Amino acid sequence: MKPVRSSGSRPSADPRSASNHRGPHQRRPASGQERRPSSGHQHQNHRRLPALPIAETVPTLDPRHAALDASAVADSPFTSLGLIDPIVRAVVVEGYTEPSPIQREVIPHILQGRDILACAQTGTGKTAAFVLPALQRLVAAGEPALGSGAIRLLVLTPTRELATQIDERVGVYGRALGVRHTVVFGGVSQFRQEVAMRNPPDVLVATPGRLLDLIKQRIVRLDRVTHLVLDEADRMLDMGFIRDVRSICASIPTQRQTLLFSATMPESVSGLARSMLNNPVHVSVTPPATTVASIEQSVVFVAKADKRALLERVLLDSKVLRAIVFTNTKHGANRLSDQLARSGIESAAIHGNKSQSARDRALDAFRNGTSRVLVATDVASRGIDIDGVTHVINYELPNTAESYVHRIGRTGRAGAAGEAISFCDPSERRLLADIERVSRRRLAVRPNDAPPTNTPPTEPVQPSRKAPIADTSLSARINRFTPKKPRTFDALSIPIANRR
Ligand code: AMP
Repeated sequence: MKPVRSSGSRPSADPRSASNHRGPHQRRPASGQERRPSSGHQHQNHRRLPALPIAETVPTLDPRHAALDASAVADSPFTSLGLIDPIVRAVVVEGYTEPSPIQREVIPHILQGRDILACAQTGTGKTAAFVLPALQRLVAAGEPALGSGAIRLLVLTPTRELATQIDERVGVYGRALGVRHTVVFGGVSQFRQEVAMRNPPDVLVATPGRLLDLIKQRIVRLDRVTHLVLDEADRMLDMGFIRDVRSICASIPTQRQTLLFSATMPESVSGLARSMLNNPVHVSVTPPATTVASIEQSVVFVAKADKRALLERVLLDSKVLRAIVFTNTKHGANRLSDQLARSGIESAAIHGNKSQSARDRALDAFRNGTSRVLVATDVASRGIDIDGVTHVINYELPNTAESYVHRIGRTGRAGAAGEAISFCDPSERRLLADIERVSRRRLAVRPNDAPPTNTPPTEPVQPSRKAPIADTSLSARINRFTPKKPRTFDALSIPIANRR
């Protein structure tokens, strides 16, 4: 993950032309010599910066786009939604055969210029739901042209991981349009972000705090923004970004299209929506705060002192191909990761106290399979979009039911099956009751299949239903999205079973 990413330059011919597909998303290498402080008023310094070739890449033809048969594009359901050829090619190449429910619901409205208030969790395909039509609107508007140095689409999102992922998706989906895009977030030096802003991108993805810093220093101007996306609005408010978000919005022209996405819809988010959206279309793909139906969820009642032994037994199961283990504290995450290492189980740890490069290394190790296990705190639960996470384990129950929903949403992504196992000690029974109440679902009790070392289990042992673990290969994932097997994103709209 790099603090600044930019790619694309404007194709010379009509970007709608299928033959005009341009180069792959390119990343600039991270600076090894970032000497500037991360805050403060540096506008004057910014003028003295060398004119680096920021955000200018040499566009190349993506052979996969060009190789697609014209009928594959014409017949794609994404074409029926009104999307143009180069965008449809990008999603077909990604293996998307069917729009997800949120995509089907919102894309036509966004293309018509409507504001959107959408309740959708991560994992539902919401990023493409806003990026695809928003990019098309930028192309359709024509003026100012793509690549002209005006930020036209701003995406605000709470965490740097999410920001990086969205920026990466903009690169993938906008590849053939020659869209220039950049991400800025806090916790890293501001230097490269300043440099990148000397030639502003078409699309800026940002976390609110750093963006506001850059605006105050007059490094970023938002006066040409025509499209604003507030992603994970509930999380942004939870993280205390409400004032920053409002200040940022005040520097954007009121004549704009605003799209607000939130996993849950508490009154605080509805209030923000009322003040920011103009006659929005309301869309909800799952009931608020319910959990994804394709995830098998269970709880194990276990004494606190027995949790680590239980975790090791669970992780040694060959069905656990890739697991995220959640703890409630940074210290706890480090300690657990060390203890697992002593038992011969390699894991990476990620939490808010780690430097950006340490977080990047941990995520890379998890992504590329060097570490099969990632130990994380909640700071990581929103931002991780890694395919093939077969298991989420709540080593400690989270303090809010919303966090539970977001944690377990790291598995079962894109309609795949996944398993979430929560360890509950006697002191956590009330948290469990909250989770079951808010998610309107009783968790299956899974046996703690080892003799307790200290205290007896607090709940009678019951047999659990085990779902087959998803085949996470790319071909299997693509197969899951074929129309003949309607268990794609539709799984997310299935009413929750097992209610009591
Ligand atoms: P999101 O909810 O935006 O985080 O997306 C979750 C995952 O679903 C990402 O890995 C996307 O690449 C993937 N995805 C998005 N739309 C589709 C689709 N229509 N078909 C299959 N996968 C998709």
